[in-house]
Order: sequence, then C-alpha cells, then structure tokens
Amino acid sequence: MMKKRNNQKKPPKMDMPFLEKFMVAPDNYEIFKFGGISLRDDERGLRTMLQYFPDFFTEEQIKENMKHYNLQTMFNLVKKYFKKEYGYVGTEIELSNRYQNTINSYIYNDKTKPAFVHIDELFESTVMAFLLAMFKWSKEFENLEIYGECFKYVLFLMNDVCIFGEMQSESANKALLETVNGDIQILQLAEDCYWTIVVFSLAHEIAHAYLASIGKKYSKKHPEKEEYDADMIAYHIVLKIIIEEHGKSAMLEDYTYLAPMMYMDFFDLYYYTDRVLYKTWFYDPEHPLPIKRKNRLFTIAYKDKYIFESENGNHLYGGFLDVYDEYKDQLLLKMERRKLDAILHIEEREKIRRNRDDEGRSD
Ligand SMILES: [Zn+2]
Repeated sequence: MMKKRNNQKKPPKMDMPFLEKFMVAPDNYEIFKFGGISLRDDERGLRTMLQYFPDFFTEEQIKENMKHYNLQTMFNLVKKYFKKEYGYVGTEIELSNRYQNTINSYIYNDKTKPAFVHIDELFESTVMAFLLAMFKWSKEFENLEIYGECFKYVLFLMNDVCIFGEMQSESANKALLETVNGDIQILQLAEDCYWTIVVFSLAHEIAHAYLASIGKKYSKKHPEKEEYDADMIAYHIVLKIIIEEHGKSAMLEDYTYLAPMMYMDFFDLYYYTDRVLYKTWFYDPEHPLPIKRKNRLFTIAYKDKYIFESENGNHLYGGFLDVYDEYKDQLLLKMERRKLDAILHIEEREKIRRNRDDEGRSD
C-alpha cells in the first residue's frame, strides 16, 4: 500500500497571482495538423545509447526494441483496447507527432476533418528525461553530487522546457546521461514508466472522441467532468493492458501502474515551479488540477477487478514522492534565499502571458 505522506505543505508566499488559461484547445486545423517540425533523430538516439550504455545493448537489440516500442505501435494497441473494452473503433483517428513547443497532448476533432491525436516530440523527450532524473535522484538520495545534479535538471526541465517550450539541447541530454552514468536499472525504470504514460495519454485523448461518439454531453457548469471521464477510461485501458498483454512483444510492466500518477505529479511540479518562480497561477475551468485528477485515478487502481502485482510499483512511487516533496521544498527555499535569480526569465514569461491574453481576446 501507499506510504503515508504529509500533503499539508505551507503554500508559497507570493504577491497577487496572475490567472492564466492553459491547455488551450487548438482552433486552427491546418496549423496544428501540419505545423511544427521534426527534431527526431533515431540514429543519434542509437549512438547515444551505445555510448552511455555500452555494456548492455547491441545495435540490433536497440533496433529491435524500437520496433516494438514506438508511438505508432502503442497507438494501435490503445485502439485495439478501445474496440475490445468499449466497442469503439476510432479508425479515422490519426497520430500527429511533431515538435510544436508544447508538452501538452490534445485531440483535434471538429467532426468534419479527420481527427488526430497530437503527442508532441517535446512531450516525449521531457517525460523521459524527467523520469530519469527523478528515479536517479530517488535511488541515490544520499549522494550529494547526484542530489544536486538531479535537482538542477528537474528545475531546468520545469523552467526552460515546460514553461518556455524549449527542446532540451543535445548537451542537456548529455549532462543528464552523465548523471545517470550507465545505470541500466534507472534507464529501464524510466523507459517502462514512460510507455505506460504514453499509453495513458493516447487513451485519454481517444476517450474524448469516444465520449463524443456515444453522444455524452457535459454541462457547461461542470466541464471538468469530461476530463475525469477521459482519465477513468484511459486508466482502465492502461490496467487492462498491464494485465492482459503480459509477456507479449509490446507490453506494459505491472510495476509501472502508478506511472499515470507520476504524470499528474509532473504537471503539478510544472505549475508549482511557475507559481514559485513567476507567480503565475494556472486557471482553466475545463481541466481540474493534477492533484485532483490523481486522486480520482487512485480510486480506480484499487478496484477489485484489477488484479496484478503492485508491491514494486508502490515502492517505486514511494521513492518518487520523496523526491517530489524534496524538489518543492528546495525550490521554495532557494527562491526565498534568492539563489535562483540567475535562472529567471521574467521578461520572457511576461511576454508569454501577454501573448496568451491577446489570443484569449481574439476568440
Ligand atoms: Zn482531456
């Protein structure tokens, strides 16, 4: 079972907060469908893996792995479960996966043009890097050097990557892999959790299309209900895949069953960082706060109909939460002591806020 935690943290001291919309749904089909660029470079990824984990993989093994674990196979797997569990065949839904400077995934569905689910390249690299840094930190908490490097890296991800939508450079990736330092266990944990998060995100987005297809209506007063419903369906599919695809070529490991919660925590840390560094409060009536979504997910995970081994997963998540708390404490402390002044981009943050305000007005 879960570790007991003290959730009652003192809220950060701050001035009048800004209110801001986030996860704004795209309104321009062409731009969103075909916009963005691709930074993906499988060859480079391959060389990096061989360089940092020389004793563990051969080139063939990595290529074989990439054949079974990629966005498209996971997308197909999720669709298969929508058909099986809900009788929903979303054949017309396509996958879009380019770099559009956002870590949010979304589904575009105006019911006239082909619908597509967008998973940004930035999402992929950020979530993977986040998990690597968090798990390494958690594993070697007592090692001050690793502690410091991992804190800095998570802060970098939240500040530069999540808030400003910048892709990590190759040198940032290298710095992270040097901290991970050939630790194959950490790589495995991060990768396994990563795929569970990918499946959860894909299923969440397809769930929106499914809910629309069965004519489910949500009152304007409670638009957040649709998000909860999409989460419930997505998590059901994750757990089904964990239980039923065991031992198959593209499967999800049972110990990753709390990875969707880590994904919510990832967003929570992102908003928290924005609040502490830039005094920005997110506000979006349609998207409930990550912590609320997480609590709903827990109610599903412990239903009797899902039977699988959960002990290792609980242990992993316990360690993750220790680091999650630590990050929050350290961030606030360092901010109050003005140790973070050098990394603040106050003007750029203000610019983003103004741009979003303008976009909001033009709607
Ligand atoms: Zn949604």
